[in-house]
Amino acid sequence: MEELKPFEAERRQMVEFQLRRRGIRDERVLAAMLHVPRHEFVPKKFMELAYQDRPLPIGKAETISQPYIVAAMTEAALVQPGDVVLEVGTGSGYQAAVLAWLGARVYSIERVQELAESARARLARLGYGAVEVVCGDGSEGYSAGAPYQAILVTAASPQPPPALVDQLAVGGRMVIPVGGFRLQRLQLMEKTVSGIAVRNLDSCQFVPLIGKYGWPQKSLGRENA
Ligand code: SAH
Repeated sequence: MEELKPFEAERRQMVEFQLRRRGIRDERVLAAMLHVPRHEFVPKKFMELAYQDRPLPIGKAETISQPYIVAAMTEAALVQPGDVVLEVGTGSGYQAAVLAWLGARVYSIERVQELAESARARLARLGYGAVEVVCGDGSEGYSAGAPYQAILVTAASPQPPPALVDQLAVGGRMVIPVGGFRLQRLQLMEKTVSGIAVRNLDSCQFVPLIGKYGWPQKSLGRENA
């Protein structure tokens, strides 16, 4: 009998029940999420919960997104091998690993230095050499890697940061949660020669994008008070 990899049965169940049956169709995205070991991206004490249908805390008041949302954002971005992709909000590094598995060259930017460092070490240990983790304010994008075929913003923004729209290639796609502090809607923005087309996708709940073109730092204090 073939030996199962750690958590492989849980991963298969996640893909079948949380993703495929909920409408994720792109076989490459499903394969990526079947392969990337999500349990390696959560704190040890939550390992057993890694494949549940929920976000999980990763420290510093931040979270790793629910598997379905990772899949929905990745699918909407239509990432092709060789694409240069920017992720804003590295967090655990899981979304970046899924993008790398699809063959993208990934720049991932994280504001909290401790999270950036641990994600960088984790991605290196797991062999995701195609991901470069940068520490900084991703609401200003990362001009060194631009233009990007896809930009995934995994923190909630009151509106799409203009710097990110600028750094998107013509023909590129940005997926971003836009809206209020607690509830947002995922938007897909496509840049064409004649302008930007916007489509609304699922509603969602992300932690806030804190930065120049996101929410001010002081809004965190207000929420935690
Ligand atoms: N994509 C992550 C989850 C992201 S949680 C994963 O797969 O695990 C959102 C992350 O965005 C948090 O880690 C938070 O610190 C970060 N963040 C918030 N504002 C940011 C900004 N302006 N620039 C970069 N990262 C930011």
